[in-house]
Amino acid sequence: MLTFFHPHELNKHIHTLKKEGKRIGFVPTMGALHAGHLSLLEASKSACDISVCSIFVNPTQFTNPEDLAKYPRTEKSDSALLEKAGCDILFMPDQQEIYAREKPMPITFNALTQSFEGASRPGHFEGVARIVRLLFDCVQPDEAFFGLKDYQQCLVIDELVKQLDLGITLHFIPTKREPDGLAMSSRNQRLNSKQREAAPVIYRTLLWAKDQLGNYTAAELEKACIARIEEEAALRVDYFKFADARTLEPVSVWKKDMLLIALAAVFAGDVRLIDNLLLK
Ligand code: AMP
Repeated sequence: MLTFFHPHELNKHIHTLKKEGKRIGFVPTMGALHAGHLSLLEASKSACDISVCSIFVNPTQFTNPEDLAKYPRTEKSDSALLEKAGCDILFMPDQQEIYAREKPMPITFNALTQSFEGASRPGHFEGVARIVRLLFDCVQPDEAFFGLKDYQQCLVIDELVKQLDLGITLHFIPTKREPDGLAMSSRNQRLNSKQREAAPVIYRTLLWAKDQLGNYTAAELEKACIARIEEEAALRVDYFKFADARTLEPVSVWKKDMLLIALAAVFAGDVRLIDNLLLK
């Protein structure tokens, strides 16, 4: 595995690979890697000749400076994991160098970046779009891989690629879970034992909601789901909502033929966990 820190050096190397006709797959991450990240790498390895992973804890997507400061940083073990998993190139860009390449962003996301994660974390998706665009510019991928755990992020990246006409094929990969159902996340390492024990109720509740769709109105079911999660003293719900899975418009009335998703964000102390489930 080759490791690059300087965007221009990676760019030069990628240029050579492309001249050789290699197809480049890209998995952007913020590190503290787990099996969820590795499933994205696996997908890239099966689809592409060369797989590039990046590790960059991007300051512009954090609204809370404490969350940024506490974000786990485990570059050494991450690098070893990636090497073992067969990653070809690791990119850990220098912050100043990568942001020095920034150009104006001629796109509008409208409502997509304002709801759910965007409402709870103002500016988050603008920060995500800025860095993903810069990383795409350095890596020049043919295909890129993102996790459905960050469902709203998948829609934002889809818009980014379409509006900038980047010609990158996107793959959205199912969420990897712990045996008890908790969605794998780098933030899970920050849970204490009580919070960790309580956290699987989030996924259990998403599954329960899927089962109960016909029995409640959307508002009643949201309320019932919030109550189920908050029965755990260690957890506080930020939001639990149903939305149209294509637009993320909140759903108040069940409609036939609608692609429906349930989205949840839950605080365990100061650790914020998100999860979602496509319901139909
Ligand atoms: P992060 O390092 O949290 O920014 O995540 C990097 C990529 O891994 C994003 O596309 C995430 O959606 C994806 N990811 C995070 N957790 C999981 C998971 N449990 N299963 C699958 N993909 C994930």
